Amino acid sequence: MGKRQFKAETKQLLDLMINSIYTHREIFLRELISNASDALDKLKFRSLTEPDLMGSDTDLGLHIALDKEGRTITITDNGIGMTQDEVVENIGTIAKSGTKEFFEKMDNEKSGENAAIALIGQFGVGFYSAFMVAKKVTLITRAAKSEAGVRWESAGDGSYTVEETDKESRGTAITLHLRDDIAERMDNDLLDPHEIETLVKRYSDFIRYPIKMEMPKGDDGKETELKTLNSMVPLWQRAKQEVTDEQYRAFYHAEFHAWDDPIDTIHTRGEGAVEYTALLFIPSKVPYEFWSPHFERGLKLYSRQVFIMEKCKELLPEYLGFVKGLVDSPDFSLNLSREVLQHDRQLKTIAKNVEKKVLDALKYMVENKRDDYEKFWEEFGRALKGGVYANFGREVDKLKDLLLFPSSFGDKPVTLKEYVGRMKEGQSDIYYAAGRDRAAVEHLPQMEALREKGYEVLYFIDKIDEFMTVGLSEYEGKKLRSISAADLTLDKEAAEEQKKKEETHKGLIETVKKHLDGKVAEVRLSPLLKSAPACIVSGDGGLSLTMEQTLNETMRGEMPAPKAKRVLELNPDHAIFATLTRLHAENPDAPKLRDYAALLYDQSLLTAGLPVDDPAAFATRLTTLMVDAGDRH
Ligand code: ADP
Ligand code: MG
Repeated sequence: MGKRQFKAETKQLLDLMINSIYTHREIFLRELISNASDALDKLKFRSLTEPDLMGSDTDLGLHIALDKEGRTITITDNGIGMTQDEVVENIGTIAKSGTKEFFEKMDNEKSGENAAIALIGQFGVGFYSAFMVAKKVTLITRAAKSEAGVRWESAGDGSYTVEETDKESRGTAITLHLRDDIAERMDNDLLDPHEIETLVKRYSDFIRYPIKMEMPKGDDGKETELKTLNSMVPLWQRAKQEVTDEQYRAFYHAEFHAWDDPIDTIHTRGEGAVEYTALLFIPSKVPYEFWSPHFERGLKLYSRQVFIMEKCKELLPEYLGFVKGLVDSPDFSLNLSREVLQHDRQLKTIAKNVEKKVLDALKYMVENKRDDYEKFWEEFGRALKGGVYANFGREVDKLKDLLLFPSSFGDKPVTLKEYVGRMKEGQSDIYYAAGRDRAAVEHLPQMEALREKGYEVLYFIDKIDEFMTVGLSEYEGKKLRSISAADLTLDKEAAEEQKKKEETHKGLIETVKKHLDGKVAEVRLSPLLKSAPACIVSGDGGLSLTMEQTLNETMRGEMPAPKAKRVLELNPDHAIFATLTRLHAENPDAPKLRDYAALLYDQSLLTAGLPVDDPAAFATRLTTLMVDAGDRH
C-alpha cells in the first residue's frame, strides 16, 4: 500500500483548513471527540443485535494523551473502528454528495473566514479540522471483529498513505503532530493538560462516555492521576435551570454538527401518559441542502440515554423539518424498527407535543421577539408556507398566525392579524397582489384604486404565496382577495355603475372580445382602474395568471399547465375608451379597432408582468401605430 492522492476537492479543503487563521482552532478537539463518541455509539448500537461484537472490551470511553516533548496530542477510543476500505472512503475523500456544491458556494461567498468555517460545518468535514493545528495526522484503527489494523497518515499536502499495521485492540487512535507555531504558543497551550481539560469541559462535557486524561496531582506536578474530564450527564437530563445558554449552544454545535447559533432552544419534559424529554433547537441558518430532496428531517431518538436512531422523521411534521433536536423516552425499546415506529402511539403523542411546543415558541417569537422572528422567517418562512399549502390546508389554523408578508404599508412584513387590526373602516376583505417582486406588484394598474382608498395590500411575491390561498382563503372571517381577480370591487356603487355602463357599451365589448379571438374568456369594464387604459385579470376565483405562470415554469412544457381564465378589463373613463367607442360606431370591423384591441390586451399582459403571446405581432402593431401618429403631425 503506498501513497495515494486526495481527491481534488479534499485537497482544496485541506488548504483552506491549513491556511485558515481561524480564532477558534480549538474546535478540532470537539470534532475529534464527537467522532469518537459517534464511533462508540455505533458500536453500542450494533452490539444490540451482535452480542459478541464487543468481546471483553466493554469499558467504553475515550482517552487523551499529551506528549510535550514530541509535541503530539493523541485521542483514542474503543469504538467501532474502521476497515481499510472505510478509512479510504471516510477519511480519504469527502464522501458527501455536496462536495462540488461546497466549492461553488465557497467561490460565491468570499465573505471571509467565518463563512468558510460555517460552510465546512454544513458539509460535515469535521475530521479535517485536525489540520488547523496539526502538520501531520496519524490515524491507527481496527474495526470491531477485524484482525488487522490500518495506519493512515497525511501531512495535509495532497496525499496520504494507508497501510496495514498491528493494533492490539478495537478502536481508533488519532495522533496530531502539532504545527510548530501552535506547539510554541504560551497562551492556549494545547500541550497543557489544564488547557485541554478546559476545552473538554467547554465543548464536550455532555459526551456520554468518559473522556480520560492523565492530570497532574498535588502541587509539584510530578505525579499524575487518570481523571475523567467530562461530567457525562447528558445535557437533556439536567434541569433547565442548571444549563447555561453557552452549554446549550455547545451541545447544539457538537451533537448536530451545526455551526450557527440556535435562534431558540426548547427543553421540555412530558410526564403522564407518555414520559419523555425533548431538547429542540430552532436554527438561525438554513442547513445545507435543506431545500433539496436529499434533505433528511427528523429528531434523534434515545431511550434512557441510549442512542436508537439518527433521524426519526415521524417525530417532526414536514413543515418543521428545520428543527434539530432529540427525544429521549424510556417507553421505546432499543431495537425499534422503522415499521413499528410508524404506527407507534407513544411516538405519535410525543410528535404532537413536539409540534405544539415548536409552534408555541414560534408564536411567542412572532409576538414578542419580532426581530428574531423576522430573521427566522427569512430563512425558514418558506417551510411554514409549504405547510399551509400542503395537505389541502389542514394545517392552516396552526400556521396562519405565523405567516409574514411584505405589504404596501412600509418595509416591515406584517402578520394577517396585524393587517386585520389596521383595516380601514368600511374595508371588509384582505387584499393581496401577486407578482414577481415588489416593484412589479407596486406598479400593477389596480394598485392605484387601493392606494386611493387607503387600503393596505399584502405583496405575494414568493411563488408559493398565492398557492397558499387554496387552503387559506380567509382569516378571521375576512376573505383574502387578489387585486388581479375579476370579482374584485371595492365598493358597491362603483360595481353598479360598471354594470350599467356595460349595458350601454355591450356592442363594443362584444366586438373587442371577438377581435381577441379566443384569447380572453371575457371582456368587461373595470370598476377599479384609474389612469391605466386596461388590465388583465383572472376570472372566477380559479387559477390566477401568476399561478399559471409558475406552473408553466415548474412543468417546463413537459405537460401542458392548466390555464387561468383570462378577463380583459377596460377603463371606461380613459381617453382610449372614447376612441374605441367612436371607431366601433363607425365600423365594428375596422382593422384599426382590431389592432387596438390586440394592443390593449398585450400591454395589459405586460403591466401584469406576463409575457405577450406573440412579441413580433405586438411590435408590428406598435410600429404601425407610431407611423400613423407620425403622419398626423
Ligand atoms: P462526520 O462526523 O460529519 O461524518 P467527519 O469528517 O468528522 O464527518 O468524519 C468522517 C467519517 O470518518 C465519519 O463519518 C466516520 O465514518 C469516520 N470516523 C472519523 N473518526 C472516527 C473514529 N474515531 N472512529 C470511527 N470512525 C471515524
Ligand atoms: Mg464528525
